[in-house]
Amino acid sequence: MKSSIKIGRISGIDIAVHPTWFLAVAFIAWTIASLFEQSYSSWSTSQAWIAAVFGALALFGSVLLHELAHSITAKQLGLKVDGITLFIFGGVSQIRGKYERARDEFLVAFAGPLSSLLLGVVFLLVWQVYKPTSGDPVLLLGIIFYLGLMNILLGVFNLLPGFPLDGGRVFRSIIWGWTKNESLATRIAANVGQLLAWAMFGLGIYRFVNGDIMGGIWMAFIGMFLQSAARSERRAGRGESTGTVVPLRAAIRRTPKVADARDRVSDVMDGIIAHGEQQVVPVIENGTPIGFFTAEDVARFPAADWHNLSVGSVVRRQPLLAVQLTDNALDVLDALRTRQIRYAMVLDGNDLVGVASLEAIEATVSFMNSGGGASADSPRA
Ligand SMILES: [Zn+2]
Repeated sequence: MKSSIKIGRISGIDIAVHPTWFLAVAFIAWTIASLFEQSYSSWSTSQAWIAAVFGALALFGSVLLHELAHSITAKQLGLKVDGITLFIFGGVSQIRGKYERARDEFLVAFAGPLSSLLLGVVFLLVWQVYKPTSGDPVLLLGIIFYLGLMNILLGVFNLLPGFPLDGGRVFRSIIWGWTKNESLATRIAANVGQLLAWAMFGLGIYRFVNGDIMGGIWMAFIGMFLQSAARSERRAGRGESTGTVVPLRAAIRRTPKVADARDRVSDVMDGIIAHGEQQVVPVIENGTPIGFFTAEDVARFPAADWHNLSVGSVVRRQPLLAVQLTDNALDVLDALRTRQIRYAMVLDGNDLVGVASLEAIEATVSFMNSGGGASADSPRA
């Protein structure tokens, strides 16, 4: 997702939070605080709030664990995982690629809710063992009981059989394995998903009208989010099963300037790089592109020598990848990763129009993909 903040890396999977996540933590903490104040009358307001903030953070910790279960299973089955993002409605695992078998999709989708249910059972067992025989629990136990209930709820809610919930994917994989008809399976799961989303939206409005203002609005919002996700899933299913198309046009940097292999390094540095408009300069030798010139390449040489060096002598000559402006950015990304190179020449017909960089495409793709092909999980307060 665009403008997400990377916070760490677990098992080789990048973990990020979207700015909207902070809103969710605040809202959930607020909800838990009032829940605690109502349930445990011996807790002071500040105690309820402290427990609520820890509870909200731990709830997202649980969501992260749920996403890790998806992502790690996916990685073990050979799928690519771009990362996990926590956002206002929960978490998203950015899993790319296509499931070869219905069984693989089933395993990846089921791993999340299964981990939530197991975690919930563990928390509730701890609660059973240590709960007070009379009176209110201590703060930590109050949080543990809440986390137990929420994880069970998270597991059960995500098993509802409609896209984009995990249950929708489980459901789809079962129909797919059974009928051998992948697009039929997608259509059914997406339609059930839309139905569920509308039901949730309706229930949210009902709660709102009956005085549960914040809870109702929250639920209606989740319904709307699920609705749009289910719709885009159905659209993708109708088009082709290959998944999302991200136009390369949106992910490239136009590079008006190229360098000739005979140009002097100092001229390219002063004339192009120093202006800041272009960091990567395609290099042409006898009319043929031979590589990319970047400031990093010449950092190996003392600046005093730059006016003696030709661009052709410092540029890393490498097998070049040329792609068309009309290509799908996801395919270009795959090609760059497979060849372990950072840049590709972008052509419009026969004209060189720009450079596609691995980082720029990754950033664009993860933004455009968020909510599309990803699996989404929604915790509720
Ligand atoms: Zn999930």
